Amino acid sequence: MEEKRAENGVAAMAVCYQGFDPAAYLQNYYTPPLADLERKDSIVPWKLACLHKAFTEGDVSGELLVDIGSGPTLYQVMSGCEVFNKVLLTDFLEVNRQELRGWLQDEGRCSLDWTPFLQHVYKLEGRRPSAWTEKAAKLRQVIMDIVPIDVHCPLSLALDVLPSAGADCLVSCYCLESVSPDLAAFTRALGNIGRLLRPGGHLLLIGALGESYYFGGPGVKIPVVPLNEAQVCASLKESGYTLIMLEVYTLRQDMRGLFDNASGVFFVKAMKE
Ligand code: SAH
Repeated sequence: MEEKRAENGVAAMAVCYQGFDPAAYLQNYYTPPLADLERKDSIVPWKLACLHKAFTEGDVSGELLVDIGSGPTLYQVMSGCEVFNKVLLTDFLEVNRQELRGWLQDEGRCSLDWTPFLQHVYKLEGRRPSAWTEKAAKLRQVIMDIVPIDVHCPLSLALDVLPSAGADCLVSCYCLESVSPDLAAFTRALGNIGRLLRPGGHLLLIGALGESYYFGGPGVKIPVVPLNEAQVCASLKESGYTLIMLEVYTLRQDMRGLFDNASGVFFVKAMKE
């Protein structure tokens, strides 16, 4: 009975995602005012700074980085591509994988210009922002593939995609809470993706706090599990991770309620036990 209800909840989420519109999502969330790279207190510079710090502290290393639920975005692997020789992008929807392929093949089939993001991250790395094309080339060189994923399946990725030892690091942004019907499903999804990670490997997780919906496109209202910090910590523990660091960004009042009802964002660095 309980299992059937869980399955129905997950199936209902998949239906919601059928209307997801990559171009509208990018426009809403990755252009100003929400993504204002000129403002230090804007959300995207905060996320990029967290990722930059996490990837340069020295403890996150190895050969393979996997991004879980990439969506149509690339910002989340712009720091990691300097540390890992291989980066695997994943998403549930073909429209998102197609958007990413458009950038990878560099044929101008992109809904968003990622140049300012590449420049911003280059600057964080102490390099000349004007040399951003080197970073774009590096990113294109290390992305090995863009593959389907379903975080609700115990085997979320196809078997032949990863080395048997697992990935060295996972990054995942705004995915698990916005594809799970409830907290139990969120926790199970954390456990499922943990199976892709080698013991001692790291998880870098970014997600919304206190959010019960967001718009994945015009009129496409997607339900989200409203999380607080304590729930994130408890779910990580239950799913076999040791928390290393949790940081919280509180959304400015004037940035709230544009395309969702989040109150903030969390950034987690954790390790698989
Ligand atoms: N990582 C991006 C996109 C987050 S939006 C960012 O930081 O903005 C949430 C993403 O989860 C969408 O791309 C959606 O296609 C994907 N998704 C939906 N259902 C999923 C599932 N069952 N498993 C994995 N990803 C899923």
